[in-house]
Amino acid sequence: MRPLIAGNWKMHGSLLDSAALAEAVSAGAATAGPAAELLVCPPFPYIQPTAAALLGKGVAVGGQDCHAAAKGAHTGDVAAVMLRDVGATHVILGHSERRADHGETDAAVRAKAEAALAAGLTPIVCVGESEAQRLAGKAEAVVTGQLDGSLPEGFAAAGGVVAYEPVWAIGTGRTPTEAEIAAIHAAIRANLTAQFGAPGGGLRILYGGSVKPGNAKAILALPHVDGALVGGASLVAADFLAIAAAA
Ligand code: PEP
Repeated sequence: MRPLIAGNWKMHGSLLDSAALAEAVSAGAATAGPAAELLVCPPFPYIQPTAAALLGKGVAVGGQDCHAAAKGAHTGDVAAVMLRDVGATHVILGHSERRADHGETDAAVRAKAEAALAAGLTPIVCVGESEAQRLAGKAEAVVTGQLDGSLPEGFAAAGGVVAYEPVWAIGTGRTPTEAEIAAIHAAIRANLTAQFGAPGGGLRILYGGSVKPGNAKAILALPHVDGALVGGASLVAADFLAIAAAA
């Protein structure tokens, strides 16, 4: 399947920075990553201008979260349909920073994913163990438990995406070994086919956590690694494009 290289810009940059980054990514997209599908996920206020700038340029735009409701009295929140309205096609859900900062549970992530599907967005549902959980030998159980709780019916039919992001690898420069990544991705694949049958076999499973140009090729070559969710390195167009070129 065609790999997906997704950039999570988190809460970084200014309007001008995001415009320059989008321009640099789109300028290099055709040559640097023709084999990969590219996606960037700016902060909410920059989604609309980024989507407008990238229209027709081969780089999709996504949100970093959405509310579970389609509308209502939810001050400060953003509905999936609103993301869709301003040009987003994807939305990252259940990132560990949101699970930690906002107490998002698997049930909350599942409700958000349902809203994303209803709005016609592709959900990218993040799962991953903490360092303590890995050291306790519980990584696989934690991740499959999160999948069981976070993925709604219809996820596979809509081509939903799963991102395996070990919490301890995010922004730290540390990654699991290739064997550890391969083992968790195989467990995720097994869970997806158990939950959804054959369509679960065709869903993309991204790896995220300190992906850089230097380790991208080896990670992206592993079985059941169908792309990457990239944080820090997605803020440097040359690095993001180098990761895409490695896919
Ligand atoms: C992320 O937060 O989704 C992420 C993968 O971050 P980084 O690449 O910086 O580890």
